[in-house]
Amino acid sequence: MEKYIDLHTHSTASDGTDTPAAVVEKAKALDLAVVALTDHDTLSGLAEAREAGADLDQIVVPGCEISTRTDYGSLHIVGLWVPETNEKLASMLAHFRQERQRRNDKILAKLRELGLNISMEEVLAHTTSAVGRPHIATVLKEKGYVQSKEEAFSKYLGAGCPAYFPKAAPGPEETVRILNDMGATVVLAHPLLQVLPDGCLENIVSNLAACGLSGLEVWHSAQNAEQSAWLLKLVKKYNLCASGGSDYHGANKPRIEMGTGCGNLHIPLNVYENLLARRKAQGLHC
Ligand code: AMP
Ligand code: ZN
Ligand code: FE
Ligand code: FE
Repeated sequence: MEKYIDLHTHSTASDGTDTPAAVVEKAKALDLAVVALTDHDTLSGLAEAREAGADLDQIVVPGCEISTRTDYGSLHIVGLWVPETNEKLASMLAHFRQERQRRNDKILAKLRELGLNISMEEVLAHTTSAVGRPHIATVLKEKGYVQSKEEAFSKYLGAGCPAYFPKAAPGPEETVRILNDMGATVVLAHPLLQVLPDGCLENIVSNLAACGLSGLEVWHSAQNAEQSAWLLKLVKKYNLCASGGSDYHGANKPRIEMGTGCGNLHIPLNVYENLLARRKAQGLHC
């Protein structure tokens, strides 16, 4: 029977609702051959996921997802096989988390001005490491200020809304170079979810490939079969690897299931094997 994988998931270390160990347990229960934990801007869930993987005999790829900034908007970069302890990466991510914290303080102050009183303690209760707008949205809903998290984003937290503040973030080229230099396999996350002017994605891919990008997320819960086919052509043209993942967030994105995404995601094991083969050819450990 064909085996499947999921190379993009989130835990309570960022804005997922399953603990890192629970993410790994779920992958095992779903009979996934491989799962990658790719929390936003943190490595703090990786040790727990690695230990759960060893206990359950489940292959776990250590990863993280970094939001970068372009002139058009944010571009997400996933690092796979990131070092669990690396001073440079850890301090870069700690800096981003500090930036998040500064931004969250501004958001809460603005919300208070608007008559929505939530405290940082209430927000922090929903994550162990990287704090973001989804956690604020959760508290706004819990306290009855909004009916749903979507409403929190559309009324207050989304771009252009009264409590929106941009987040300081690095550029994509720099991020790709740093991750590549430390031996990670660097993948452009959900390329067709990023809001870019027409024709711009190929330029970005070409630039990032020159900086050490190894792959594109060809399969993702929010990309359809036609989009995946188009991305696969781009992968071949630039001599990259295909990657794929659901972007599972537990109850924070209830429509997305690990492995199968919105129902029809099936990422075969050979996608992982091709990534491994590329790493071996680059002389990188697996
Ligand atoms: P942050 O990292 O704090 O900027 O928050 C970004 C996260 O918020 C994204 O990863 C999405 O999961 C989530 N998000 C963004 N827009 C919305 C929305 N309209 N509804 C629900 N979640 C959203
Ligand atoms: Zn997220
Ligand atoms: Fe993302
Ligand atoms: Fe993600």
